[in-house]
Amino acid sequence: SQVIEKLGERALEIVSSGPLSSTIKLFTELPISAPTLKGLERSHFVEMTEIQHKALPYALARRDVLGAAKTGSGKTLAFLIPILEGLYRSRWTRFDGLGALVISPTRELAMQIFEVLCKIGRYHKFSAGLVIGGKKVDEEKEILSKMNILVCTPGRLLQHMDETAGFDCNNLQVLVLDEADRILDMGFKKTMNAIIANLPRQRQTLLFSATQTKSVKDLARLSLERPEYVGVHEKD
Ligand code: ADP
Ligand code: MG
Repeated sequence: SQVIEKLGERALEIVSSGPLSSTIKLFTELPISAPTLKGLERSHFVEMTEIQHKALPYALARRDVLGAAKTGSGKTLAFLIPILEGLYRSRWTRFDGLGALVISPTRELAMQIFEVLCKIGRYHKFSAGLVIGGKKVDEEKEILSKMNILVCTPGRLLQHMDETAGFDCNNLQVLVLDEADRILDMGFKKTMNAIIANLPRQRQTLLFSATQTKSVKDLARLSLERPEYVGVHEKD
């Protein structure tokens, strides 16, 4: 438990000294727990991508992050690692209910995120579920109340918030909005506003988007608190 506290302190120390030094390149150089490091190593993730290098120090220090980076830049680990670490440092257990929520625009993307979560999170004891529709609502209802981490599409998540007794978000620690621009392009603005209205205000929020449109900025204003902006600019 002393080790857990040290990890948190070290993350804060790293961000309070500004952006991460460019000499730090490896996941093993970050204040990350042993189970996460082992999951990364066994999944052959060694060196951070640029967006991971920029976003992880802030996200690990529980700051809100507004991240911009194009497809393929490695955003998934930039939010999954902070989820695992946030819950680990809070000593989250299976009995503590929903701790983290990832919202993704499509079923396919949600499934990919879930796969990566299962890979890098395999040495943790958290439970995780996929809530994407296409499955029977009743089956989903069964698992919902038991999961620590959920990866969802917006429509189905809101349906469960409205209909499923026992689906409790009041303890949520981390909210991730992945591909926020696409979520909004698909017409989920009202759904997102309703979802966010159902969540506790005291939480960490990580929002990633390839583009910064007006509607993304509106969503960011609604969901983030004093965010750190991190972006990876395309080089020609
Ligand atoms: P994005 O969400 O930004 O589109 P992904 O998180 O899906 O990007 O990652 C894109 C690809 O890069 C995936 O195949 C992933 O496995 C790989 N990848 C991500 N981070 C790393 C890393 N640190 N080292 C090696 N490969 C990585
Ligand atoms: Mg992605």
